[in-house]
Amino acid sequence: MARPFTAVFNTDAGERSLVAAIRQRAGQGGRPRGTIRLGIGDDCAVLWPRRGHELVVTTDLSLETVHFRRDWHPAGSVGHRCLARGLSDLAAMGARPEAAFLSLAVPGRVPKAWLDEFFRGFFALADRWKVQLAGGDLGKFPRIVADIVLLGSAPKGKALLRSGAKPGDVIYVTGTLGGSAAALQQLRSRRRVTSSPSAGDPHLYPEPRLTIGRKLVGLATACIDLSDGLSTDLGHLCEESGVGAEIVQEALPVDARASLDQALHGGEDYELLFCAPSRTAVPSELAGVSVTAIGRVKKRTSGAQMELLDGRRRKQLRAAGWEHFRSKG
Ligand SMILES: [Mg+2]
Repeated sequence: MARPFTAVFNTDAGERSLVAAIRQRAGQGGRPRGTIRLGIGDDCAVLWPRRGHELVVTTDLSLETVHFRRDWHPAGSVGHRCLARGLSDLAAMGARPEAAFLSLAVPGRVPKAWLDEFFRGFFALADRWKVQLAGGDLGKFPRIVADIVLLGSAPKGKALLRSGAKPGDVIYVTGTLGGSAAALQQLRSRRRVTSSPSAGDPHLYPEPRLTIGRKLVGLATACIDLSDGLSTDLGHLCEESGVGAEIVQEALPVDARASLDQALHGGEDYELLFCAPSRTAVPSELAGVSVTAIGRVKKRTSGAQMELLDGRRRKQLRAAGWEHFRSKG
């Protein structure tokens, strides 16, 4: 049940009341739930791993002006995306989400309405995937910084890794590619948010593929989520598996709004890329989302690690997606 946070974040009392509001919204009456034995309110959270499962942990920074801009991204989208990035990593491991920890720093002058909207976006997604906010920290800083830690559980020894792809495996992706990059380009050209964005916007409100990830356990040999762009993330998977790959250009499920370039290199689609042996029957749809075969895993050679097949032409596919700290020169 949404209750607005009545805090003004520039006084100690304001901070305390914000913490109280977050704690209330996180829904913790001291009762243990699932893996969480003790959530917000003590020095540490106390967790209880599920029987026969392993804990998987991921962490993601959302930095103002690097990952979002307040004039492009509505506050609800910033809250949603901050959590979605971590949930997508859990999806890529075939894990179910168990607990979230959020450290948030904001400028003292940030409007209360911004914080209300941020948490509305955050908790709407958290409620949908039944992940509980079990702790975090608040601070003041000249720019908004949101650091999310997510804990999930995967059946012991069964977590999907980047390192299991074998030559001959078929490469699949879920959903469509490039939609987020195309939507970001639109935001960029509009300069600021003019209309209320739709909940289905692939850039502002990406949906983590958690249900699909869990269905891939025991079926996929390797998996990664597409956060940095197909070419870069496929490169990571090839690297970890010690293999090469060839992608068939015509097979790519390019989003209707996107260019081929955006589908290959645009980041933040948060779809899953996975591999499975060619004899494995992979459904063409999982959890209502299309699944498309886009290429094959190859033996690693001294030549190009990744190739793009365009009809009869064979080109090197270079990782050209998002890379942190890449120079703009
Ligand atoms: Mg990832």
